[in-house]
Amino acid sequence: MVGAATGALAAGPRPVVGVLALQGSFAEHVEALAALGVGTRLVRRPADLEGLGAIILPGGESTAMGRLLSDFALLEPLRAAVAGGLPAWGTCAGAILLARSISNDSRRHLALMDLEVERNAYGAQLESFRAAAPIAGLEGGDFPLVFIRAPAFVGLGPGVEPLASSGGKVVACRQGTMVATAFHPELSGDRRFHRWFLEQVAGLSLPAAGSGDGQAA
Ligand code: GLN
Repeated sequence: MVGAATGALAAGPRPVVGVLALQGSFAEHVEALAALGVGTRLVRRPADLEGLGAIILPGGESTAMGRLLSDFALLEPLRAAVAGGLPAWGTCAGAILLARSISNDSRRHLALMDLEVERNAYGAQLESFRAAAPIAGLEGGDFPLVFIRAPAFVGLGPGVEPLASSGGKVVACRQGTMVATAFHPELSGDRRFHRWFLEQVAGLSLPAAGSGDGQAA
């Protein structure tokens, strides 16, 4: 038997992780996942949801993404998949898509996570900034936090566990198989949060840690 084939079999099938790719920073998530040795699929149609081990909803513009989800007939299939247990992580606008309600906007999108968010909560002067904070479950010290016109998580339901805070506000939280971050780990160069989501939330087996885990320089 050919050695390479044996190795591939021994490692088992590579998990395929979907990245919603209607708008926003999906390419950076694909890059982070590829660095971890994970197979990725851009999700644009309902059929793209089949067989995924997890899905990431990227940052961008939640109003545009919500509209495109409807236009692409993806809103209901995506909602059904996540409600049915497909592990989902929303970053920034993706978190807004997951949230039950938006305090300063009447729109609702997937509305699956018991979380109230306030859009663009940091105001015009602080639309984008960096910080760092420890994250529950992540070893290796503070995690770099990149905020871009970020939402604030203003109301966490009883089943929602805070994972990290910065500036007195919760910036990462989890409810079962759903995770929301107000910041953008895909822009930090630090892959620990991606690994944690895939392994600890989605229960996927990743290739052994390697150089792809590199932290921000
Ligand atoms: N301000 C955007 C919104 O409300 C989110 C920004 C982001 O995803 N970086 O949808």
